[in-house]
Amino acid sequence: MTLFPDVVGDMLCESILGRAQERGIIRVDCHQIRDYTLNKQKQVDNYPYGGGHGAVMQADPLYQCWNHICQEAGERLHTIYLSPAGTVFQQADAKRLQRDYQSLILVCGHYEGIDERFIEECVDEEISLGDFVLTGGEIPAMAVADAVCRLVPGVLSDAACFTDESHWDGLLEYPQYSRPEVWHDRRVPPILLSGHHANIAKWRRKQALIRTRDRRPDLYQKLDLTSKADQKLLKEIALEEQNS
Ligand code: SAM
Repeated sequence: MTLFPDVVGDMLCESILGRAQERGIIRVDCHQIRDYTLNKQKQVDNYPYGGGHGAVMQADPLYQCWNHICQEAGERLHTIYLSPAGTVFQQADAKRLQRDYQSLILVCGHYEGIDERFIEECVDEEISLGDFVLTGGEIPAMAVADAVCRLVPGVLSDAACFTDESHWDGLLEYPQYSRPEVWHDRRVPPILLSGHHANIAKWRRKQALIRTRDRRPDLYQKLDLTSKADQKLLKEIALEEQNS
């Protein structure tokens, strides 16, 4: 639900999600909230009660749009309002939303936000993209839609495409390299050219551990590194760092 359906639709029709839509694996429908107003000007906003600057999106056009989508679907769909006052979106939310819901409604606000009564009546959860304020909910909605849709089976060629990535299991991903072997005098780490899959996997795990420890100590603290294999890797890392 947006005031800018073309922007959102165009973006989500490109690349991997575009191909997934063509193959019928996912479907993104963008609904113009203005189409659900009863006034000639298709105005969706008005002055905030209590005064103050800006405008607030009115409850009724939002409700009419939401109700139309739910009626078409034949059920009350799980509804998310993108809001800087929501819970900050994490990969775990993407997993949960993909696992628990066949369809979602994403509501994009604008101006000063939306009438609280629509939130009370129709919204199941509020999600924030982070602790900053954007002009509209379209970018957060596209981010959430992208993060959720890429987890739908068949959208990516292989589940490893997302299980191997940052934030899936609490780690940041190891560094990646592609051709050529040498670029601007910088060489690809020789281990990656060795063809020795077990050693490559070990090197990558070590790099992921180091990266997470150095860049995101908050995530690193939560990791369970008690397995024998990880304890061995941690000892090796400590030794390598001592010697460097
Ligand atoms: N007055 C609101 C406040 O202070 O919380 C901010 C409104 S913002 C200018 C307009 C719209 O952008 C919001 O209704 C919301 O849909 C969206 N938005 C802005 N920042 C966001 C964020 N960090 N996460 C999710 N949505 C956001």
